Amino acid sequence: IRCCTSGGCQASGSLEVRDRLAAAIHADGLEETAEVVSVGCMGFCGRGPLVAVDPSSVLYERVKPEQAASIVSGLKGGNVTANLGDLEHPFFTQQLRIVLEHIGKIDPTRIESYIAVGGYRQLYRTLHEMSPQQVIDEVTRSGLRGRGGAGYPTGLKWATVAKMQDRRRNQTPNQPQQKYVICNADEGDPGAFMDRSILESDPHRVLEGMAIAAYAVGATHGYVYVRAEYPPAIEHIRLAIQQAKQHGILGSQIFESTFDFKIDVRVGAGAYVCGEETALIASIEGGRGIPHPRPPYPAESGLWSCPTLINNVETFANIVPIIRNRGAWYASIGTEKSKGTKVFSLAGNIANTGLVEVPMGIPLRQIVEDMGGGAANGGKVKAVQTGGPSGGCIPASAFDTPVDYEAMQALGSIIGSGGMVVMDENTNMVDMARFFIQFCMDESCGKCIPCRAGTVQLHQLLTKFVEHRATEADLASLEELCGMVKSMSLCGLGQSAPNPIVSTLRHFRDDYLKLLAVSD
Ligand code: SF4
Repeated sequence: IRCCTSGGCQASGSLEVRDRLAAAIHADGLEETAEVVSVGCMGFCGRGPLVAVDPSSVLYERVKPEQAASIVSGLKGGNVTANLGDLEHPFFTQQLRIVLEHIGKIDPTRIESYIAVGGYRQLYRTLHEMSPQQVIDEVTRSGLRGRGGAGYPTGLKWATVAKMQDRRRNQTPNQPQQKYVICNADEGDPGAFMDRSILESDPHRVLEGMAIAAYAVGATHGYVYVRAEYPPAIEHIRLAIQQAKQHGILGSQIFESTFDFKIDVRVGAGAYVCGEETALIASIEGGRGIPHPRPPYPAESGLWSCPTLINNVETFANIVPIIRNRGAWYASIGTEKSKGTKVFSLAGNIANTGLVEVPMGIPLRQIVEDMGGGAANGGKVKAVQTGGPSGGCIPASAFDTPVDYEAMQALGSIIGSGGMVVMDENTNMVDMARFFIQFCMDESCGKCIPCRAGTVQLHQLLTKFVEHRATEADLASLEELCGMVKSMSLCGLGQSAPNPIVSTLRHFRDDYLKLLAVSD
């Protein structure tokens, strides 16, 4: 009996459900035939706590502790009174799970569970059968793009870091030859929980991807930078590192090769801007997490001025299947320029809150309406915000657009890290834009004026709209200021902060016009 104990289900009381299931098995004397396994996220987060019974794969949703005994008695043919979930639901059947293939199925706290589904075989294979260049070629062939938001080609990034050491050695022999790999788990977009779920549910998959990356680029030390708000993820990744060390999978001469690699965890204090690469590096170094101008890019001069590869959790989680099935296989999924799958978290006013993984290029409508079930209250969906505060609002009229990097950009939004916040017809888009700009205003590090002061000004202007005090001149100022903040801010936070305003002005201008002050 699999019981989801990821953060979402824990919040709905799954730990007590798990304990009551174990007690019921003991009370019924079924220890020889059944056991309760704590697993990670099964995806249908809005219906937790979730419990699945194998081998029949019956899924129970919204399980209450007092229903545990009847689930166990169902094993003996007794009456089952708990709600019966439906694994044939479009939420599950329309997914293509590559990154999420094991989550909700294995126990993330036991390395044996990961090894039993083929874990660490690709690392072994990489070390014994592939040169670093072959690994990079395979990742390049896959067409994988960074899943943290920017969509930069992963193979190109790896090749750059791999080359960097040679160049440094040739040019300046006395420079340190250390290189680093960093896993960016500082997921901070409101409504995004993909990386948290992956780290909580399949931490060894991320470690294996990091180790393969380190071998490819020539790094010997890695860091997982994870935000403090994710205690189960922190606990699971720390435990996974400890177990991997004990099994000789991290450390020296891994799998009897000449490859050494160790990983440490750094816990960030939860500043949104620390998701930006240079701020994240400053935070790991023990400094204040504020961005620095680029170049130099981290690939050239990153952590402690050494060449550094930074990818996010989902990017690393894609590496094992790419090595296992080869890059050409991965590239056969998705669209011409956006390969593979993407994990999205569905949140906001949507019937089926949770985590889905779909092939790139799938129409947005299929995600929001078929899998997500449309608006939670049965009303009409008005828009979906993709990409968090850096993204934009896509109106329901554009839901037939394929979800890929270019198409989302053409609509004035981005895929971003994969958060999707759904809004129904009762949502005022000016309110929504004000929420996101307030978020950016609060999270601005204050280093540069366009962002520090500009977000405050934008918030004040939007407040005038919400309070029906805005004039046509304010509308013009709003548009002008958005352009200034976008073009003059130092880092991605400021550069993208106006996006929700720009996209709502583009697609929902009437919402602004309706709020203009009525002139005498
Ligand atoms: Fe800091 Fe904002 Fe400037 Fe980025 S754009 S450096 S977050 S003030």
